[in-house]
Amino acid sequence: MKTDPLHSSTNPVRESSATAPGETRNARGEWQPSCPAKYAPLIVWPPKPRELILWFVNWPGFVWPINAGLLVISVMTWLFLMPPLEKCSSFHWGWILQVYLVTLAWIWIVYGSFYLLMYMMRVDGTKGKYTNQWPDRPQKRFLFNNQVYDNVFWTAGVGGLMTTGYLVLGLWLFANHYIPYLSWEEHPALFCLWIVVIPFWREFHFYWIHRFIHWKPLYKRIHSLHHKNVDVNPWSGMAMHPIEQFLYLSVCAIHFVIASHPFHFLFDLQHAALGPVSGHLGFEGPVVKGKVPIGSYFHYLHHRYFECNYGESMLPLDRWFGTFRDGLPDGEGSKLNQEHRG
Ligand SMILES: [Zn+2]
Ligand SMILES: [Zn+2]
Repeated sequence: MKTDPLHSSTNPVRESSATAPGETRNARGEWQPSCPAKYAPLIVWPPKPRELILWFVNWPGFVWPINAGLLVISVMTWLFLMPPLEKCSSFHWGWILQVYLVTLAWIWIVYGSFYLLMYMMRVDGTKGKYTNQWPDRPQKRFLFNNQVYDNVFWTAGVGGLMTTGYLVLGLWLFANHYIPYLSWEEHPALFCLWIVVIPFWREFHFYWIHRFIHWKPLYKRIHSLHHKNVDVNPWSGMAMHPIEQFLYLSVCAIHFVIASHPFHFLFDLQHAALGPVSGHLGFEGPVVKGKVPIGSYFHYLHHRYFECNYGESMLPLDRWFGTFRDGLPDGEGSKLNQEHRG
């Protein structure tokens, strides 16, 4: 594997090698960053404690900006926007509608703002964009002959309902004490540990669900919908078949069996519902004139090459199972060499 010492790992967000004026693109209009997709220095031998600590606290790194940003959204939601838990012990339209509107609002704010900046206002132009195509042109394979309308329909329309469904179920279960509850006052350390563990749990769960739906019969009927998006934009994030959304968001079901606080359940679910914006940005971070260090080349490569990078860049599951591709022409996984089938 080629390594570039100038670009130490900062996954889940990597340092920039975005295109400069005079960017080089291949005949398909694609641009590839010169630094590879990398794993976080988490599970490596020999251990790299200094790198690990830096990765954890650096900007960008594990904490900042993605996980901290999503945590802030969940704290605000829990404190100011969710119905009181006592109210959720029986199903009433009032609080269910409130949960739905809050869910929908966050989806529009998070996905919509990146789409607005990067694809409507085009603040970066094609600088750092993996392809030079824009998604708002007519494309027959999408609903309404339009990738953006299709993606908004699945992400905000169906995804908003599915996320609300899980949220309503979880709040109802917590409110009725049907599932184990972890109080902040009695277990502050465990409470904090949950918050750190959730991003890892999410990645682990995503990898296995994702591999499962790449099984041919399921791929054809379910996951192919998401893979219509060979080129991605923020709205592609949750553009999934409802069954895939159901499986993908089932990440929050861990809170039905292991004691946690309803806040953890909310954070887990919002992390899953809003986090995909980073993996589907279509741009090499940092974006918005180099100010916002988000984006995942790792997952972009999955859309581009298909049989690689099923997981993400913290847990080296793809490397262990021989499906990791770093994106360099002669780099790790370059021999996998499978073009997208779609
Ligand atoms: Zn896939
Ligand atoms: Zn994807």
